[in-house]
Formats: sequence, C-alpha cells, structure tokens
Amino acid sequence: MPGTLSNRSFTASMRGMMASSLATMRFCSLRGAIGNDKFQKTFKNGLRELEKLAVIDAPAAFKLFESFGLPYEVTKEIGATKAESLTREGFEEEFKKHQEKSRAGAEKKFGGHGMKEGEPMVGDVEETKKKTRLHTATHIVVASLEKVLGEPLKQAGADINTERLRFDFAFPRKLTPEELQQAEKIANQTVADNLEVWFEELPLEEAFASGAHGAFAHKYPPHVKVYTVGPKSSYFSREICGGPHVSHTGEIGHIKITKEESVSGGNRRIRAVVD
Ligand SMILES: [Zn+2]
Repeated sequence: MPGTLSNRSFTASMRGMMASSLATMRFCSLRGAIGNDKFQKTFKNGLRELEKLAVIDAPAAFKLFESFGLPYEVTKEIGATKAESLTREGFEEEFKKHQEKSRAGAEKKFGGHGMKEGEPMVGDVEETKKKTRLHTATHIVVASLEKVLGEPLKQAGADINTERLRFDFAFPRKLTPEELQQAEKIANQTVADNLEVWFEELPLEEAFASGAHGAFAHKYPPHVKVYTVGPKSSYFSREICGGPHVSHTGEIGHIKITKEESVSGGNRRIRAVVD
C-alpha cells in the first residue's frame, strides 16, 4: 500500500535505496556514523515526512533525499500518485542546482562552519583566537546534540563571529530545555576532559567510511581534512573540515548555549558563546 510504513514497504525502500548510486555516499556516511538502528530510524522519519506531503515534486523529493537520505526511487515508489509528476530528470536537475550552490558556497565558506579555509585569517590576533575557539566549540556542540538526540544533525550552514557561534540544522521540532541543558553539560564535560583536537588527510570516500560527518551533496575535493576531537578509537566528534581549530578542548573555555529557535526551511538554529 503506498504511503504506509509497513515492514514490506520499508524493505522495498531499503532495496530502492541500495540501488541508488546517488544515495550511496549518504548511506555510507550515515551508517558509518550512527549504526544500522539509528540509520533505519532516520530513514523512517523520512518516510513519515513523505507521507505528510500532499504533492511530491522535484524540490520536495530532493529535500527528502538531502534531509533523510531517501533516494529518488523510494520517493517515487512510495509517493505513488502523489509523486506522479516527479521525474528522474527533474530530481537530478535539483541535485545539480544544489551542487552548484554548494560549490559556490564552498569557495567562500570554510568547511561548512563559517570560517575562511586554507589561508591565514585576516584581522586581530585575539579575534582570530576567539573565532578558532568558537569553531571547535561548534563541532563539540553539534556532537553533543547528536548524542542527546540520538541521530546525526543534518547541518545546514554555520556562521561564526567574534561574539558567538551559530549553526542551523534540519529538525522537525523545538528542542526542550532539558535537551539543551544536557547537550551543554556534555559539551562542557568535553572541555573539562581537555581532549586532543587533531586532523588527518584522507581520500573523501575513506573519510566518510571512517565515520566523519560532512554536509552531503557538498562538493568536496578528492582528498579532505578530517578533524577529530578525542582519540581515534573512541572519538567524540569527527568532521570533514578545513579548520582552524584549537589543539586541546580545554582551550575553548566554558560553553553556553544561548538560544534555540526556528528559522526558515524547517531548520532549527542554535547560538552559543564561550568565555
Ligand atoms: Zn568545522
């Protein structure tokens, strides 16, 4: 039956997903990062989103793919009559548009965290140090929220200035004060643990396979830097990112989450400061 979440349709979805080459990287990255159970949960959330839609056009299908990893085949099959107008050409057109946007963005932004990449930052030395602390804090708050929510954050951009860090992610509801408190506690425990922050350069596929998070459909070069917080065998956070970062989490100082709000596109926005 179209649009239901029976085991049969889920299995069919999984088969469709495995068949989709577009989805392979997303699949590997998600599975590597979160394990099969949580991967299934994310995927099921995607199917639930799909059910809510009245009409599934190419932009909607791409959004399902981007946020939940639902490949074209699955959306087309499960969407049935609601996805009548959806074509593979239309879907791929959206995919291309997104890649072009990501590429343009990547030239300006650094590693998806709103820092300039690959060249020394201009400006005051103190300002640069503060931004660097906030950048590492961004990775830590993201990973802390992932631990609280039990799923990877679908990051949708970040911006860091000398006052605060800010990042957006796709999530269907407001976070509770308890969740935010818990994330803040985990983040500050990580600071107290004074974990090493280090990087290695890996082929892109290997980076994803090793559990590194990255913005999907972002146009990455064939070799990327992966920044890890904590030891390789039991890391706290692992992200494809150009840096710069502090060398130990103890340098960050106290992290405080100051705001959580809704922004456009179904995204949530988190702000935090360090002192
Ligand atoms: Zn980063």
